[in-house]
Amino acid sequence: MKTTCAYCGVGCGIKATVTGEREVAIAGDTEHPANRGKLCSKGTHLGETVGLEGRLLYPEITGRRASWDKAIRQVARTFAETIERHGPDSVAFYVSGQLLTEDYYVANKLMKGFIGSANIDTNSRLCMSSAVAGYTRAFGEDVVPATYEDIDEADLVVLVGSNTAWCHPVVYQRIMAARLLRGTQVVVIDPRRTETCEEADLHLQLRPGTDVALMNGLLAYCRDAGVLDEAFLAEHVATPDSFWSALGEGNDLWSTARTCDIAPVDLKRFFELFAATPRTVTLFSQGINQSIRGTDQVNAIVNVHLATGRIGKPGAAPFSITGQPNAMGGREVGGLASTLAAHRDFAPENVAEVKRFWAAPRVADKPGLKAVDLFRSIREGRVKALWVMATNPAVSLPDAAQVREALALCPFVVVSDCMADTDTSRFADVKLPAVGWGEKDGTVTNSERLISRQRALMAAPGEARPDWWIVTQVARAMGWRDAFGYENAADIYREHARLSAYRNEGRRKFDIGFHAAITNREYEAMEPVSWGGAPFSEGRFSTPDGKARLVAVEQRVLDERLPKWPLTLNTGRYRDQWHTMTRTGLSPRLSQHRREPLVEIHFRDAEEQGIGDGDLVRVATPQGESVFRAALSEGQRQGEIFTPIHWTDRQSSGGRTGLLPRPLVDPHSGQPGFKSTPARIEKLAVEWRGFLIAREVPEQVRADYFTKVRVGQGWLVELAGSGDPDAQLGNLLAGGQRIESLDRARGGWRAAVLDKGGRLSAALFVSRAGRLPDREWLITQLSAHETPSSVELLAGRPAIPQPDRGPIVCVCFDVGMKTIVQAIASQSLVSVEAVGKALSAGTNCGSCKPAIQRLIGETKEAAHA
Ligand code: SF4
Repeated sequence: MKTTCAYCGVGCGIKATVTGEREVAIAGDTEHPANRGKLCSKGTHLGETVGLEGRLLYPEITGRRASWDKAIRQVARTFAETIERHGPDSVAFYVSGQLLTEDYYVANKLMKGFIGSANIDTNSRLCMSSAVAGYTRAFGEDVVPATYEDIDEADLVVLVGSNTAWCHPVVYQRIMAARLLRGTQVVVIDPRRTETCEEADLHLQLRPGTDVALMNGLLAYCRDAGVLDEAFLAEHVATPDSFWSALGEGNDLWSTARTCDIAPVDLKRFFELFAATPRTVTLFSQGINQSIRGTDQVNAIVNVHLATGRIGKPGAAPFSITGQPNAMGGREVGGLASTLAAHRDFAPENVAEVKRFWAAPRVADKPGLKAVDLFRSIREGRVKALWVMATNPAVSLPDAAQVREALALCPFVVVSDCMADTDTSRFADVKLPAVGWGEKDGTVTNSERLISRQRALMAAPGEARPDWWIVTQVARAMGWRDAFGYENAADIYREHARLSAYRNEGRRKFDIGFHAAITNREYEAMEPVSWGGAPFSEGRFSTPDGKARLVAVEQRVLDERLPKWPLTLNTGRYRDQWHTMTRTGLSPRLSQHRREPLVEIHFRDAEEQGIGDGDLVRVATPQGESVFRAALSEGQRQGEIFTPIHWTDRQSSGGRTGLLPRPLVDPHSGQPGFKSTPARIEKLAVEWRGFLIAREVPEQVRADYFTKVRVGQGWLVELAGSGDPDAQLGNLLAGGQRIESLDRARGGWRAAVLDKGGRLSAALFVSRAGRLPDREWLITQLSAHETPSSVELLAGRPAIPQPDRGPIVCVCFDVGMKTIVQAIASQSLVSVEAVGKALSAGTNCGSCKPAIQRLIGETKEAAHA
């Protein structure tokens, strides 16, 4: 069956075959225009995540199983009473880019049209709302002016604030394919040297937060070089009076290079390349959006494209790629607190129009609370009932400790989710079981405005229900039976399509009226379909006069580094994990790439603090602190550190990046600035280190530091602490035959537990001073048919040594770093393809190709040294 990937905004098509009870075989859909058969590591291993482990299967009220009827009545009654007593703005929904468009539509309709408040915001606020605000300022409507085909046709792709190779891997592969076919040049603009830089022609490792200066400098250069499209500007763009004179101030090449801390020669090379290449796509992502100046940064990019006429033409566009599978669908229905519905804002005529269409009693007439303000309002007692759908704000919002406090203080919290235990659902009064990927049925829209079907492959487990059904039942119980009379997802999609076309008459590009009368059968068989075509190819924008806007934006003064906070913290994603790992964390293969949360730090900063590679360190910011393992990296600029966003309380005592960023937001978009928080770092003193390998996941781990991760047939728990390890770790060894050894001189403790059949069920290794064995061989022993000898088990290695593969690089074929390096050196391999031929690495999903490219470079360098 054809469906769409659960993860990022690339929106890859999948061919899924159910092969058994909750078993699915995954292949890329060769006919899907977004990916043409390709999948990254996350999509490829989706089949490992459809089991029922950790699922919420029944409604619960205050932790006890309840009937759907009772749970729905409880939610409806509490929301109605709260509205009655405190008004519509005393309640709120916090929803998610994981919802399908149909789910989003009914949630938005209930809040904005029937409750009468715009207090519905989404976790997409955290990933792309600056792009929404920037596009709307420039084009009059939130329209992405590009498709992936523009990448195929570009001669230059500029990647700004985007680790595309990790976060949008199939788009990255498409860029690489264009590079191979037509010699497309690639420039990466990013304060970090990431794997995206491996194949780039140029990497501008700018000072964080100076993107406006860089783009203004580029625009000034283009003007001086005579490459502005004067005819396009005159006919299709409205330019503020002082725009060009303001640009004259401090935007020459030398000043720009100084502000951005880039070598002038590199900057000049980029400016010349850009000026000489009309077919340019500038692709941007979280590095641009997740900033307190995100909207200005978006407009600085859009300005350059408008002024050079590089928009509405093949291979030329400023292209924001979204992080979530249906962030775009949420934008379309109006699931952000700052929009009303179907790309309408809160202008009185729009409110009247939507009121009429929905036959609604009271449509919200002003924007609602955006994510950060919403949780602040909850903490201050102004919002008293909250419904969280398919997201985990206790982990993902900035200043997560305050978010937890808000959830604890909120008088009534409802969480609908497919997982039973999340950091957020621990605060829920009512938990409602939602269906997950493979059970859901509806539509999603990807980064390029392509609507695809997500289809149910298997029956919903337990009493799990679709999100649209849950919202519909609550709306009916609140008294709005007729307006929420949907029988299936197709009913909702038709209404959504009709609303997009209602009194549109070309005013808004978002118009899917072509599906207003789609039948259930047609909906079932629906092929991917795009809206908007090439939206600005005729030079007509969605403003009253049809002209786009150049928006004057200035580089603001950068934050001063303070002695107490000498570093700047940047945050982001790992290649093989997704958000808070509730799904990807179930996959042993995906967990191989990064098993612990690392803080990446320049080696000189580490040296100053006496931190070595692999040490545990405490990262502190004005908001909070958390513990990570240090990874020394030349990819970091000095003075800057990087941590991943994925780890939660469920998997770790540390690694909680959400605790660290400030809750500061962009004034236009409300998007938090996750990329530059003042920070400091110090080595964490621990007296012992250790690890546990076990078939069953230990619920309670009392060590000062621990992380739990899925491996083969069990779990790996990394441990560290001070004091008596026996007292802290004794509970981790399950019952069974125990083999043990103590090394009192070096404070070592090694234990293995065998089950009744004599097979290894757990192994614990602790050391105060000595080395710990490699984990890989022990992990394989959890599923081995023959139990090794006691001596081997307590040594943590086989009697006959096995080759050390090193950390896994290719998760599809289990190929380790050391294996690749040895093959490169011994077989003189000079290309990723040659490594693929020799070891198969990189020949399936291709997500590890940039890593292999890096290893080829490093091995070559080492050989010449
Ligand atoms: S790039 Fe990967 S995660 Fe994103 S949609 Fe495609 S397969 Fe899924």
